[in-house]
Amino acid sequence: MKTTQRISLHGGHSGQYCNHAKDLLEDIILRYIELGFTKVGITEHVPPINDHFLYPDEKALNLTADDLQKRFQDYFTNLKNLKIKYSSKIKIFVGMETESYADYIHQIKNLISRFQPDYIVGSNHHIDGDCFDYSKTDYDKIASNCGSYEAMYERYFDLQYEMIKTVKPFVVGHFDLIRIYDENYKKRFLLPQIAQKIERNLNLINSLNLVMDFNLRPFAKGGKEPYITGSILKRAKEMGIRVIPGDDSHGVHEVGCHIDKAIEILKALGFDTQWPDPRLLT
Ligand SMILES: [Zn+2]
Ligand SMILES: [Zn+2]
Repeated sequence: MKTTQRISLHGGHSGQYCNHAKDLLEDIILRYIELGFTKVGITEHVPPINDHFLYPDEKALNLTADDLQKRFQDYFTNLKNLKIKYSSKIKIFVGMETESYADYIHQIKNLISRFQPDYIVGSNHHIDGDCFDYSKTDYDKIASNCGSYEAMYERYFDLQYEMIKTVKPFVVGHFDLIRIYDENYKKRFLLPQIAQKIERNLNLINSLNLVMDFNLRPFAKGGKEPYITGSILKRAKEMGIRVIPGDDSHGVHEVGCHIDKAIEILKALGFDTQWPDPRLLT
């Protein structure tokens, strides 16, 4: 029987390229090597299209979209160098995590042709241009703009459907992130109008042969289960969708955290733990 390798296909955010992360990218890579990873995907956030989409922490530092475009270029240069430097110890996949605000498709296509990443993590952190995962206050405001929490969930899964169809990311990032500040998410996911959209998105993921991120960030914040939640995870298994851990690390201290636990959960549910190499699909 082949042994299961530790892996993360979503994470490695570093203080060099992300204001809500810590530490040098090289130190993060060294930590993956120290923990025995033979393969890892690093997926820094893409820069905003314009100043409107700067995160509050970026605005507080007076950064501009232009600054972040330049910083993103440095990220690719640095990571591609590190990939070569440590190639005898670890196989690094140079990735990026998308956003999904207005006009993002054009931006993502540009970034792909410019930087030729090894693969993409497709994520949604916005509802119609407003970021919902930064704070509970913003989250509640967006829900009230949408009319209800249920309506916000529905909108999220519609936007995710569009993103998956057009970006075709190798990894679909934290599929059910919309539950981030909602204690009643388990019940919410079972409501027919929401469950039907979840099922539709899973079918699309399956037909495109994409991978789902088993995202361990909730554990770092004291949560009880990763994205994706148990009920959706079970459905993914029934459909034969592959699920791969992502530590979503934002600093050396988070590298590889809970990966062994994630692998145990996936194994117990009968998922294949021989991980495919990520690649570009568009
Ligand atoms: Zn981040
Ligand atoms: Zn994310």
